[in-house]
Amino acid sequence: MLFSELLSACRDKIYAFSGLVRICPIDLVWEHMRKKNGDARYDKCTRTAYHPKCKYMTHQRSPNSIGSKRENDRFTCRRPLLNFALFRVSRQISFKVSRVFYSSNKFQLRVTQASDLFVFGSLKPHAISSLRSLHVDFRPNNPSNFDELEELLQQWLATIQTIAKHTTPPQLSFALTFPSADVEIASILLESIKCLPRLRSAALSIGCCQDSAI
Ligand SMILES: [Zn+2]
Ligand SMILES: [Zn+2]
Repeated sequence: MLFSELLSACRDKIYAFSGLVRICPIDLVWEHMRKKNGDARYDKCTRTAYHPKCKYMTHQRSPNSIGSKRENDRFTCRRPLLNFALFRVSRQISFKVSRVFYSSNKFQLRVTQASDLFVFGSLKPHAISSLRSLHVDFRPNNPSNFDELEELLQQWLATIQTIAKHTTPPQLSFALTFPSADVEIASILLESIKCLPRLRSAALSIGCCQDSAI
């Protein structure tokens, strides 16, 4: 190994330990909001139905709970703040920092409307090509509104082309969930992922038995 390579390996380790890497997934939409608004309060806990157990959730025994009664106990998320200041040191550092950030974290995108997918348009190509773990979770605000669903799917078809274009094969672990999808949506989604290059892994969970049309 060259000395310069050794240095860069060390540097990556240092970045990883300085608040750039989190055990739990990071929400891409919030990350996008932060960039737009420059505000760390968008750095949210991403506990969802798909990621039910936040690794940073700590159990606080309520002082007046007796024996095994735990109704009054509270759970608090003590996730560390992501160190976004590192992105602003210099252009050269920022490039390396973002490579570490996007390749070392797990990302999830909770899509409630078409515009949530715009985040991929704002990511730099090298950020997308650094991604190693991405979960796109479709939770449309109005699952029965045909026009909104149509818009959402159109945006998704454009988005997956962007992802496919920049993804580095075969490093991406990709997951897609759309619990409220019907048969028609399911087939559009299945067709859409065919443009992706070779993936490290793929997990799909589309539709569920609550749809009477199936
Ligand atoms: Zn949390
Ligand atoms: Zn978590």
